Amino acid sequence: MALQHAMPAMEYESVNPFDGKTLKTFVGITDEQLEKKLAAAQSCFGTWRHKTYAERAAIIVKASAILHNKFDDFARLATLEMGKRIGEARGEVQFSADILAYYAKNAERFLAPVALNPTTGTAHMESSPMGVIFCVEPWNFPYYQLARVAGPHLMAGNVIVVKHAGIVPQCAIAFEKLLTEAGAPAGLYTNLLVTHAQSDRIVNDPRIKGVALTGSVAAGKSIAAQAGANVKPSSMELGGSDAFIVLDDADLDLTIKWAVWGRMYNAGQTCCAAKRFIVVEQVADKFLEQFKAGLAALKPGDPMEEKTTLGPLSSEAALLHLVKQVEAAVAHGAKVSLGGKRIERAGSFMEPTILTDIKPENPAFREEFFGPVALFFRVKDEDAAIALANDSDFGLGGSVFTKDEARGQRVASRVETGMMFVNNISWSDAELPFGGIKDSGYGRELGNMGIQEFVNKKLVRFGKFEAPS
Ligand code: NAP
Repeated sequence: MALQHAMPAMEYESVNPFDGKTLKTFVGITDEQLEKKLAAAQSCFGTWRHKTYAERAAIIVKASAILHNKFDDFARLATLEMGKRIGEARGEVQFSADILAYYAKNAERFLAPVALNPTTGTAHMESSPMGVIFCVEPWNFPYYQLARVAGPHLMAGNVIVVKHAGIVPQCAIAFEKLLTEAGAPAGLYTNLLVTHAQSDRIVNDPRIKGVALTGSVAAGKSIAAQAGANVKPSSMELGGSDAFIVLDDADLDLTIKWAVWGRMYNAGQTCCAAKRFIVVEQVADKFLEQFKAGLAALKPGDPMEEKTTLGPLSSEAALLHLVKQVEAAVAHGAKVSLGGKRIERAGSFMEPTILTDIKPENPAFREEFFGPVALFFRVKDEDAAIALANDSDFGLGGSVFTKDEARGQRVASRVETGMMFVNNISWSDAELPFGGIKDSGYGRELGNMGIQEFVNKKLVRFGKFEAPS
């Protein structure tokens, strides 16, 4: 069934959050244009699915090499469009290139037939691509999020159509061009400047065989409901409010470094950032004092300058939302230990902030703060720390700091999340699965698990069987 509704096109606006100036605007596509793009993707799948892994890898490896070679150009665009500090942006681009190369190298091994050993006959499971996959992605890692879906799903033999976030159209277009430059056939990777209403219709379109979303819980609920109504598989990488647990025997120097990095990387706009700092009382005062000093030392400035330690948030809207959340938290009894306000200067800058005395009745207790705002909790002991960590609607990641690694692993096992880190928060690696439980979603991206999300696992059984009498 073709998409036939006549919808007015929306505008995608690229604004520099460092100075509030509009960089470029783009008119969204019409339904007629969308129909053509979906038809091209469907047609491309007809040939791409039959390519060998080596043929697919030739294109994906080339895309990886281009990203590596032009990493600074890609990085500058991200910094301009969503305010990420330039050093972080460069790291993101290089990591994105590594993800593409990782799947080019390993896809065939991950998707090779797996022999089974039934009592009668022989059997194996084989993996085959499903078709056109619709990916909806957020702005906070404008390239990494795209590499996380393009690498595995294209190497698996699927093709993808992508709706990127409204505030990063230039990065979205640059990534599509990258694939074209690498030799991708028409329709293999398609960027779609579409509205939410068009998104819903894309999910409903019978040519779409799976949906991958990374974003907020609200977006996840909406898109997952549409996918469910159509009995289509989906993966949901949603928000988080990760616990950062500090035990009495933690190495505080090491812990403080990770605490500051874990809360402030990407200006605090990371799904699995450390957001709730849960510290046992023996070390709570010392931790708070040093954490405060670490955050207070960050200096706002131009994210394009290497020396800047605090960049703007991604948009004025994100800043206003965060300030409102802090005000509501305070109105419900939280105390401001540091910061709490926007920084009075041009651009969308927020003071690094620490809130304390957050009671369970405070809405802040259950919310995600997507920016440089840390929630600090003092607890009696290890058990209380675990109980508080688990008292969350989210279940993405978390970390625990202790000099006793075995103790750290025991605590990690008792925290209900998709990922836990002991004495580090090295969140993401091409070869390790990434994802959460509860309101943080379901499914995994990256690693071997990431490529298995949208493939048909088919059982084939053979051998000598007695015919039914
Ligand atoms: P968002 O508002 O949910 O947007 C994410 C994407 O979903 C954007 O492309 C957005 O398009 C689209 N979208 C939102 N609502 C939609 C709807 N009803 N129908 C169709 N598309 C819809 O999230 P965000 O605020 O930009 O990103 C931050 C959130 O993402 C945080 O909660 C963060 O924790 C989460 N996140 C999770 C992970 C993970 O791996 N678990 C990674 C990164 C971020 P528009 O921009 O056009 O609205």
